[in-house]
Amino acid sequence: IPGIDEVRVARTAQRVNRRLIAVASGKGGVGKSTVSANLAIALARAGRKVGLVDADIYGPSQPKLMGVEGRKPVAHDKKLVPLATAYGVPMLSMGGLVEEGQAIAWRGPMAAGALTQLVDANWGAADTLVLDLPPGTGDVQLTMIQKHRPAGAVIVSTPQDLALIDATRAIDLFAKAGIPVIGIVENMAGYACPHCGEVSDPFGKGGAEAAAERLGVPFLGRIPLDIAIRTASDVGSPPAAGNGVEGAAFAEVAGKVNA
Ligand code: ADP
Repeated sequence: IPGIDEVRVARTAQRVNRRLIAVASGKGGVGKSTVSANLAIALARAGRKVGLVDADIYGPSQPKLMGVEGRKPVAHDKKLVPLATAYGVPMLSMGGLVEEGQAIAWRGPMAAGALTQLVDANWGAADTLVLDLPPGTGDVQLTMIQKHRPAGAVIVSTPQDLALIDATRAIDLFAKAGIPVIGIVENMAGYACPHCGEVSDPFGKGGAEAAAERLGVPFLGRIPLDIAIRTASDVGSPPAAGNGVEGAAFAEVAGKVNA
C-alpha cells in the first residue's frame, strides 16, 4: 500500500529522534556531571520524560550521583535496559559496562561503540536524553556529534579564565559541527560563607556570562559553590530533587533549556 512505508519510516525516525542534550565542558572538575544529573532531574520535574546517559569514560560518576552505584544494567533483545533511579530519571553509564574500580582505558572505537550502545538502549517513553560527555573534545564527542546529532549542547564552566578558555574550544567544536549551543552554565559561582553569610568568589565572578555574551550564546544561569551541593551529590541525592535553594538554581537552568 503506497504511503505505509513512509509512515513506518516517519514513526521509526520519530522514535529515534529523542531530543539529545549534550552536556559538555572544556576541562574536568568543573561540575559537568553534577549539572547533568540535576538538569535531568529538573527537566523531569518540569514534565519531560528524561533519560540520563553517562558517557564520561574517564570518570563515570552518574551511578553515584543518582544513587544506583554497583548496579549493572541488563540487556533485553540486544538492547541495554536503563537502570531505574529514585528520581524518575532512568540512566545508563559507561561505568556500568565495566567492573567497578577498573580503569577505562578504551581506544576511540571502543568508546564510540559503547556510547552507541548507551544512546540506542531501550529508553522507552523518554522524549529527552541528557548526555554527560567526557571533558574536552575527543573521540566520544566526535562520535556523538557525527552519529547521534544532538539537538543542542549545554556547556558547563566555572567563572575562571582557564576553564572558560577550554569551554570556548568545546563551543567551537559544536559550532563547527552545526550543533546549536543551548547556552553556558556558570558553576561554582559565588560562595556564601556558612558562618557569616558573606559571599566570596573563589573562581572569579561573571566570567561565563561575559564569555556567553562575547560568543553570542545564551547564558543559562549560575549555580553557587555550595557545600550542600557537594554533600548531597556524594550521598546520591541530587539537590534538584529537593525543594531547597540549590534545587531552585537548577530548576531555573532547566527552564531555559526547556524554552
Ligand atoms: P566534572 O563532571 O566536571 O568532572 P563533577 O560534577 O564531578 O565535575 O564535580 C566535581 C566535584 O565538585 C564533585 O565533588 C562535586 O560534588 C563538586 N561540585 C560540583 N559542583 C558544585 C557546586 N556548585 N558546589 C559545590 N560542589 C560542587
